Amino acid sequence: MKYHLVVLGCQMNQSDSERVSRIMLEMGYVLTNNEQDADIIGIIACSVRQKAIDKVYAKIAKWNKWKNKRSLITFVSGCILPDDQIKFLKLFDLVFDMKIIEEFPRMLREYGVNIPNVNFYLSDNDGLNSDTYSYNDDNKKSVFLNLKPLDALPESNDDGTQAWNVDPIYNSTFEAFVPIQNGCNKFCTYCAVPYTRGREVSRPSDHIIKEVELLVIKGYKSITLLGQNVNSYGLDKKGYEISFSMLLEKIGKIIDKHGKDVWVYYTSPHPRDMTKDVVEVMARYKGIAKQIHLPVQSGDDEVLMRMNRKYNIDKYSEIIKWVRGLMPQATIFTDIIVGFSGETDEQFENTRKVLRKFEYNMAYIAMYSPRPGAKSFEWSDDISHVEKKRRYAVLTEDLTIVAQKWTDQMVGKTYQVLVRGNDRKEGYLSAHTEGKIIVRFESDDNSLIGNFVNVKIVSAGPFSAEGVLVEKTVEIPVSN
Ligand code: SF4
Repeated sequence: MKYHLVVLGCQMNQSDSERVSRIMLEMGYVLTNNEQDADIIGIIACSVRQKAIDKVYAKIAKWNKWKNKRSLITFVSGCILPDDQIKFLKLFDLVFDMKIIEEFPRMLREYGVNIPNVNFYLSDNDGLNSDTYSYNDDNKKSVFLNLKPLDALPESNDDGTQAWNVDPIYNSTFEAFVPIQNGCNKFCTYCAVPYTRGREVSRPSDHIIKEVELLVIKGYKSITLLGQNVNSYGLDKKGYEISFSMLLEKIGKIIDKHGKDVWVYYTSPHPRDMTKDVVEVMARYKGIAKQIHLPVQSGDDEVLMRMNRKYNIDKYSEIIKWVRGLMPQATIFTDIIVGFSGETDEQFENTRKVLRKFEYNMAYIAMYSPRPGAKSFEWSDDISHVEKKRRYAVLTEDLTIVAQKWTDQMVGKTYQVLVRGNDRKEGYLSAHTEGKIIVRFESDDNSLIGNFVNVKIVSAGPFSAEGVLVEKTVEIPVSN
């Protein structure tokens, strides 16, 4: 029996798909990349762009035609707006929230599929014992931090966090995503996530630490903690759970304890909830990567207010100051929306100023498009497509200039990089620095993929650099 998965959207959906894959495997299904061969086909959907939703409708229309000729079960999960959910119920065999993924075998049984009893949870003794696993320390946390035990939380077994205990089948042998939090309470006016993923729910820190430690022991080199709003981690269980900075600190200590080379990233933080202690922990622990993705969205306070971001540029500047002050070598990435409803020329110019002032290493710039379900969908989309494109091009040009300033400083220095695969340039491998700057170097040695190597940079464009493989010890770079 075979299954096929279509995964749309962000890293959280990728991570969810890794848990779906474990369940499929335990039920006896093998993955096929050819949807025509599959007995079960699923989509992990994304509602951030209309294009992604259109793709779901196109796919299910095609699959439903196949059902006239052969047996096929279809399912959809992921980020789905309530209106789409109702429509999907008529089109897919199964529509479910990822929070109840562990119920999937039962749902299939009800559909008439003969599914054996399976166990797909992270086991308690998979390579960790009480000496190596810091779980024991965590059990004592209630005493030290005055926290109440999590199981005393009302409805603690009922909030979907159990689904995270499904042992994932990671898509990579050296890079992994670890969900720490799901949902969002922020209600940015352009965003539908709070309506698709619901309110913020934090995964128990003990479980996160266990998964991270297992990955470290297995030799993973890059681990990304995932959540819609990671630095409000624990706030939904205030008094019962540790904060994001404490979680990061525990992870930093685990990596120190194992003495391995690992880069731990997190995405995405929200400037409103960002505290200085998070930056201090990043600076203190070698294993916490010196890279931060801090979405600014706009450089204008009035636009930020209409976006309901609940910070202003002064507050945002303060965070940048902490980062530059405590980790001068850190890279800073951001997200920016151009052409938001009502954005004037002057407000756009403020965004340009902010981008030039903070000199980002990378900015993911998006032209605003209203999302059904989000508050701003009701507002006028009054900036023409032509003007949005112009603002996008102008900002991209500004970004190219500020980013190049950083990458120019890399030339002549040697960096430790993580090799991720073959580069588009033939005969080259592609890697990235701790700061996630792409580096390519000439090599046909595929055994380097998944490993750290040292590369001396010989030339650089704004967002990537080219270098040569070297054996020597890495210098401490000024900026990467
Ligand atoms: S913080 Fe804002 S943009 Fe991010 S998921 Fe929540 S509502 Fe969406």
